[in-house]
Amino acid sequence: MASSPASSPAPVLRGGAWLLEPSDPASVFTPERLTEEHRLIGRTAVEFVDNEVLPQLDRLEQKDWTLARDLVRRCGELGLFGVDVPEAYGGVELDKVTSLLVSEKMARSASFGATFGGQANLTVLPVFLFGTEAQKQKYLPKLLSGEMVGAYALSESGSGSDALGAKARATRQSDGSFVLSGEKMWITNGGFADLFVVFAKVDGEQFTAFLVERAFPGVSSGKEEHKMGLHGSSTTPILLQDVKVPAGNLLGEIGKGHKVAFNVLNFGRFKLGGMCSGGAQVAIAEAARYAAERKQFGQPIAAFGAIRHKIGEMVARAYAVESLMYRTAGLIDARIGGDHTPATALAVLEEYAIEASIAKVAGSEMLDYVLDENVQIHGGNGFVKDYPAERHFRDARVNRIFEGTNEINRLLIPGMFARRAVKGDVPIIAAAKALQDEILGPPALAAPDETALADERRAVDAFKKTALMVFGLAMQTYGAKLADEQEVLMHLADMLIDVYSAESAVLRARAAADARASNASLHADAARVFVNDAAMRIDASAKQALAVMAGGDALRTMLAALRRLLKVTPINTAALRRRLADETVSRRAYIFS
Ligand SMILES: Cc1cc2nc3c(=O)[nH]c(=O)nc-3n(C[C@H](O)[C@H](O)[C@H](O)COP(=O)(O)OP(=O)(O)OC[C@H]3O[C@@H](n4cnc5c(N)ncnc54)[C@H](O)[C@@H]3O)c2cc1C
Repeated sequence: MASSPASSPAPVLRGGAWLLEPSDPASVFTPERLTEEHRLIGRTAVEFVDNEVLPQLDRLEQKDWTLARDLVRRCGELGLFGVDVPEAYGGVELDKVTSLLVSEKMARSASFGATFGGQANLTVLPVFLFGTEAQKQKYLPKLLSGEMVGAYALSESGSGSDALGAKARATRQSDGSFVLSGEKMWITNGGFADLFVVFAKVDGEQFTAFLVERAFPGVSSGKEEHKMGLHGSSTTPILLQDVKVPAGNLLGEIGKGHKVAFNVLNFGRFKLGGMCSGGAQVAIAEAARYAAERKQFGQPIAAFGAIRHKIGEMVARAYAVESLMYRTAGLIDARIGGDHTPATALAVLEEYAIEASIAKVAGSEMLDYVLDENVQIHGGNGFVKDYPAERHFRDARVNRIFEGTNEINRLLIPGMFARRAVKGDVPIIAAAKALQDEILGPPALAAPDETALADERRAVDAFKKTALMVFGLAMQTYGAKLADEQEVLMHLADMLIDVYSAESAVLRARAAADARASNASLHADAARVFVNDAAMRIDASAKQALAVMAGGDALRTMLAALRRLLKVTPINTAALRRRLADETVSRRAYIFS
């Protein structure tokens, strides 16, 4: 079993606690702390995708689902589906860092990555976390070996974000079985899956999960959707026409389908963040190669400041997301502490649900930025199919839509914080009130800080205070009605995402400095660029949120408080981005992998 950071002596930060508490760089998991065993599994996944998937991508894009099934089986042989599952069911039971690493590497092919995610995250996990012993014995070994392909059928044409509004119906029969009818929409692996996790309402009311085999009479797939991207991944409706489902195929409890749905999505979001991180690293390497080789005005375009800015920015943003992904995986592993039982896994995944939503939003938006700039760096060649840049661009767009749209996830981030604040787990209002005293009092004399990235640490501290001030004001202003103030919630989410991303980047860069890593200065460059830009975004979000909440003198007072809290002097990021870009172009690769 891969070693996890569980043995770390530092206290493990609870989910969301980073907003109020400092983190010790020594206790933060970073990609630099991957063990040889982790790296070996990562290489296995890379070699599988590069040697067995990418050369056959055209066939997959022509909907050769026999090939897709063969590839699923190969993943099974390599043990890639079983990372989260104990050996008793055919799994390999490794830590969440490994799970993240595998997701990251599978993203080298976005289409097959979706097929893989439909199986590993959306089918294996619900069966493992919520299945009875008999269900696990029956389905897990076949799912893990790839003999059986799975799919997750939650969405319907009328209920996507509002998943609990499903119309699919399960009618109870006198022998304890159920008869399911309805139509599910946009189901990944829908064209060839053998087993579906289906959500339907028992007697039209109680939202419930079922395990439905394709072999059950009445199950059929609709036509393949004509999509913008992910052409090598099957997406179809699933039709259920009076499908008799045995009592033994009820998954979890009647009326508790939301627990299955939301917990699975929760972990799926985290892994999707990993896939986005992995996809960005591939695109950065492509951009670097192209920029080095493409000449205009007698020189490689990589020599132009505008292109160096783009590549430097792509790297800095990818660095922040990668840092927050591994930090979160490390926190989850430390909290799980080697106890891979479903009950512990569920409790811990729920605890880090805020971080999972952040990973999904930050990852998918960073990836779209990177892929858009990758197309731009490729110029006309970025718009035609001879180069992979255009396919990556199309394939990635859906990441902001599925696994909970980014709007829904943005609502969840402050929403979950607010609930924890009310429960007293993350005392936001008390911290915001304490902050008001600090703002009104005489300026505090900061202790001299000689450690690496001292300015960036101070900036992150200021980001946290700013987010707290705005969050506290929003909670005081709207109380329980804050949930109706979506514009404010969106600004709050943006600030919180930047706080967690920036802090994760700085902690990782500090860990690199403390370890005297040979590339510590590049880590510092990436963290500095990210923090510098995050300061401007947080300032803008805070001002916009405050202006929604107040006007006139009250707003002027709040803006004065904001100026006092968020004193971050802009730095010359052009030089930093140039260094990041030049190193990336010279190595033709993402420099932190
Ligand atoms: C390629 C692909 C694969 C998919 N795979 C699967 C799968 O395997 N299984 C599955 O079950 N589903 C799958 N889906 C469906 C996907 O999860 C849904 O499309 C997604 O949840 C959004 O639902 P919707 O399309 O109905 O959009 P809607 O919910 O109608 O949303 C439309 C817009 O309104 C916004 N919105 C909605 N509600 C709110 C609100 N309360 N507040 C603010 N804004 C709101 C959304 O953010 C979005 O911008 C897949 C979709 C695609 C495209």
